[in-house]
Amino acid sequence: MIEPQSSASVLDALTQIRATDPPTHGGRVLSYVYDHGRPELDELAARAATMFLPVNGLDPTTFASVAVLERELVAFTRAVLHGDETVVGSVTSGGTESCLLAVKSARDRWVAAHQGDPEAGMPHLVLPSTAHPAFRKAAHYLGLTRTDVPVDPSTGAVDAQAMLSAVGESTALVVLSAPNYPFGTMDPIAEVAPALAERDVPLHVDACVGGWLLPWWPGQEQVWDFAVPGVTSISTDLHKYGYAPKGASVVLYRGRDRHRAQYYATTEWPGYPVVNPTVLGSRSATSLAAAWAVTRALGTSGYAELVQQTAHATAAVRKALSGISGLSVVGRPAAALLAVAADPDRAPAHQVDPFALVDAVRRRGFLLQAQPAFRQEDGTTLPRTAHLTLTPVTDHVTRDLVAALRAGADEVRGLSPRPPDPDLVGRVAADGLPDEMAPVLATLEAMDSTAAPEALVGLLASVIDPDVVFGTSGRGEGAGPPGDR
Ligand SMILES: *Cc1c(COP(=O)(O)O)cnc(C)c1O
Repeated sequence: MIEPQSSASVLDALTQIRATDPPTHGGRVLSYVYDHGRPELDELAARAATMFLPVNGLDPTTFASVAVLERELVAFTRAVLHGDETVVGSVTSGGTESCLLAVKSARDRWVAAHQGDPEAGMPHLVLPSTAHPAFRKAAHYLGLTRTDVPVDPSTGAVDAQAMLSAVGESTALVVLSAPNYPFGTMDPIAEVAPALAERDVPLHVDACVGGWLLPWWPGQEQVWDFAVPGVTSISTDLHKYGYAPKGASVVLYRGRDRHRAQYYATTEWPGYPVVNPTVLGSRSATSLAAAWAVTRALGTSGYAELVQQTAHATAAVRKALSGISGLSVVGRPAAALLAVAADPDRAPAHQVDPFALVDAVRRRGFLLQAQPAFRQEDGTTLPRTAHLTLTPVTDHVTRDLVAALRAGADEVRGLSPRPPDPDLVGRVAADGLPDEMAPVLATLEAMDSTAAPEALVGLLASVIDPDVVFGTSGRGEGAGPPGDR
């Protein structure tokens, strides 16, 4: 039973619950959040979302407002990504859904084209190992086989020829990123696209993180979007560098048939005729309205300004990183995402372990993202890294961030990396996550590809299990970094 409470006490409780989160504003969290640093935009997004709270996005013929907003967002996104009038698409709930739908469209078209061919086998997806896990998830959900093409461990770059060699008769879709998330480096889109077009194999460009950044990034000269013939679909997230609140992304297709293959429609039940463009049925229009409002308020020049600010901050951080010995940036990041590894040209006594760096920088009030080492199909290993996603507000805290990176690196330089600890999984289940994450990450890194997902699922499921009191000791209230909440 739940006793009814006054609105004031409900809101009070929510405020207290929220206070345990790390700060979503102010540039202290260098992943997950994309802060434009303009409070009036947050206010606008909140008002737009409130206006659309009662609307059901399930049926844009009933709620015509939903169709207007979606059509206009698609048109704006298409213009930014150099799509002509043959490019159409949908607004989705996020990058994962955009990627999933692009795979679904390609799979259904491949299956239709191979109908009645007993030799056809299963549809096949080709992607670099740096591609977002949303595509592995899509292959898993939708029944495609996969080839993960290894990238160069020192640069994070995938070779165009290696991608093309993995393409075969049953390839339903090839995926490349602009840029990839782990290292922020670009894939060879302009090199791969023409050869795929010749073979009539579709190419999806995952610009979930880059789509609202690269068009204005200073010095960005690579062509990667619909300007490249052979690019057949693109995903780009409004809730990242589009600065919309979470729950908004766009997937675009060259050709209306590709877009239509994304839909699911049926009349095989006694209820209303069903037509779902995306995964959900009833869906909120709040994120759509908020995203529409933010893009209108910023306009093209607003995005250009925010990108300038982000690029300014990125240049400062990269310059500082190049002066910190024992660390090195992986490859050539194209924009505001980058990863630092232990400098392979230094002796261990002078190296900075990225996991130790993440903990040391966290104690100084900034949250970097630890990325475990990864063994590729060809036996090569991508290094463990600390990932930074820089945003416009980074520009306000560059000095503090650089100081934290320098001091953090100085503190841990030469320390030997923490070893994996087989007892840790049990301890985390009982006590919650410790403040020091390096041993946890080292343990996860050492697990095989069956044990690691099991441990992760166990952890995440127990976090929300009503019958498990998770993490009563360890990381608790007030353990997060200081700053604006
Ligand atoms: C964020 C991201 C995704 C997935 O997006 P979600 O919005 O987190 O579902 C896909 N690809 C890349 C490159 C991304 O950065």
